[in-house]
Amino acid sequence: MIPEKNCTRCALCQFRTKIVMPDGDPSSNVIFVGEAPGENEDLIGRPFVGRSGKLLEKIMLEEGIKRSDVLITNTVKCRPPGNRDPTKEEMDACRPFLEHELSGRKVIVGLGRSACRDLIGYEGKMGEIVNKEMKINIGGKELTFLPAYHPAACIYNNDSKAELRRTMNILRTKYMG
Ligand code: SF4
Repeated sequence: MIPEKNCTRCALCQFRTKIVMPDGDPSSNVIFVGEAPGENEDLIGRPFVGRSGKLLEKIMLEEGIKRSDVLITNTVKCRPPGNRDPTKEEMDACRPFLEHELSGRKVIVGLGRSACRDLIGYEGKMGEIVNKEMKINIGGKELTFLPAYHPAACIYNNDSKAELRRTMNILRTKYMG
C-alpha cells in the first residue's frame, strides 16, 4: 500500500511540498526508519538528503555500507511544520504505508525517538536502548529491530556518532555479511 499522490489521511498533507517515499534498494533485507521529512526532503521528495543524511551516509560508508544497499524511509511521509515531532495520530495514519515498506525485511533500524515510539512504543531515553537488538512482530512476522541514534543527534555529539558507527558495524557483521 502506498499513499496516493494527494493523500489527505492526516493533517500533514496541508504543509507538504512533496510526499517523501522510500529511497534505496527496494529488495534489501534492511530498512532504516527515520522520523519525518525535513525541509530539504520536502522540497526534493527524497529522504535523508540534508545535513543529517550526509552524515548518515558517511558513517555507513565508514563501515562499508552504501546507501544503495538498504531502503531508507520515515515514520511519516510528509513534513511536520517547523520540523516538530510527528504526532501519534499522524504516525497512525501513515502506518499502513510504513508496514507495507517493512514487509519482507529482516532488520529494521529505528533511527531516533519517533521511530522507536512508533515501532516499539518506547518513550524513554535513547541511550538506554541504542544498539540493543530485539525481536518485534510486524504483520504476523518476527523481525529484528535495532534501535539507533538519529544522525541529527550525532552532528555535534561524538559519543552518539560512535554509537551510530557501532550500529552500522552490527548491521554489516551480523546481517549484511
Ligand atoms: S503523512 Fe502519510 S498519511 Fe499523512 S498525508 Fe502524508 S502520506 Fe498521507
